[in-house]
Amino acid sequence: MCFGKIRRLSRSASVRLTAWYFVVFVASVLFVGAVESSFIARAIDARERAILSEHVAEYRSEILASGVPGLARAVASHGEHGESEAVRLRQGGNTLFERAPQGNVPLEGLAGHGWRVVATVVSGDLELKVGRSDAGQREVLARLREASLAALIATLILGLLGGAALTGRALRPVRALGQTTRSILRSGDLHERVPVSGSADEFGELADTFNRMLERNEALVTGMREALDNVAHDLRTPLTRLHTAAELALAGKDDAPALREALADAVEESERVLTMLRTLMDISAAETGVMRLEREPVWLDRLAREVAETYEFVAEARGIRLISHVEPACVSGDATRLRQLIANLLDNALKYTPSAGLVELTTRLVAERAEIRVRDTGIGIPDEDKARIFERLYRGDRSRSEPGLGLGLSFVKAICDAHGGSISVHGAADQGTEMVVSLPRKRD
Ligand code: ADP
Repeated sequence: MCFGKIRRLSRSASVRLTAWYFVVFVASVLFVGAVESSFIARAIDARERAILSEHVAEYRSEILASGVPGLARAVASHGEHGESEAVRLRQGGNTLFERAPQGNVPLEGLAGHGWRVVATVVSGDLELKVGRSDAGQREVLARLREASLAALIATLILGLLGGAALTGRALRPVRALGQTTRSILRSGDLHERVPVSGSADEFGELADTFNRMLERNEALVTGMREALDNVAHDLRTPLTRLHTAAELALAGKDDAPALREALADAVEESERVLTMLRTLMDISAAETGVMRLEREPVWLDRLAREVAETYEFVAEARGIRLISHVEPACVSGDATRLRQLIANLLDNALKYTPSAGLVELTTRLVAERAEIRVRDTGIGIPDEDKARIFERLYRGDRSRSEPGLGLGLSFVKAICDAHGGSISVHGAADQGTEMVVSLPRKRD
């Protein structure tokens, strides 16, 4: 296997997770195994010691009760042979009974060499010595170790395979996320989405959030494309007129009045273009939160009356009745921005209301707030659009026949926010719309 492949594998999260899981798993299994075998070894040792003490006590009482024959019976009854137990009874220098250990090695020489030896005085100069080999104990422990090792190897293989399978499965959503992102980067297709498993865990949430972000990006990019088209379209008309006027003036004779007229046309058209560009820049400033307000006491009723007057002509041209109900309401704000706010709302109301409709503009005081309401009997806004109409570049599907950039309401909202106010939308599809702006009233 080449080094590049090994390096790539070592960078893979699933390989690293499996390796960590394996290390922790091995350490835990070894720790549990070590603790368990030490307990077992100690338990076997204690049991062997207890057997030896029991035998010594039994032989002693048999000697006291029936002498050497009693001892011989008791030793025989245990059925132990010299390989595992050795017994010797002595009086003075004489041996009264002996069951010799393996190879006739004296009991004294066995102690510490795989034998435990206990000596006790039965009475007077009667001395009993019992030795017990721990070979059986060692054999049990050796078998236990073998069995543990086999179990350990099986557990480790299972742990490694299980760990790799679990990690691979757990990281599947992350791989899907990476695949989708790579595919979007490659193809530039913004319609693609990450497959959603439907589970409510962190990965499900991540996929869901990622898809929502993709949706938003798609809407923004589509909106920007449309806005760019609209801007290009809106700029083309005045610029073409300007160009034609200049060309005609140049082609004509040195007719001073005609030249003056051409220049006046050029000024008018360039003014239109400048206004459009200024609005775009205002929106951009509002969007980035750098809108500066020239605050002063502003009477909303006067402002509303002024704006309504400028729109009377538009309303009349579209065959719409425009009515104002203005009650005095004063706020501390920027008159130019607030004028733009009312103008945008009125503009939308007139744009989205068919002829013979009605548009009402109201200002009034409600407790500590000053309100501006613009109500129309137009096409209305469907419920599913209400949350989105304040987004930059968003345009409702049913409004596309009308000119617009999808920036008006986001600009209105930015002005509201800058004044510490709020805006809400009421109404339903085909039932007209009412926009309510609420601003803090100016304290006297
Ligand atoms: P636009 O340039 O499209 O008018 P706006 O930001 O002003 O952009 O409005 C966003 C969308 O909100 C519009 O495309 C339209 O769908 C909807 N909308 C706004 N005002 C009204 C209204 N008075 N009646 C119906 N729909 C409206």
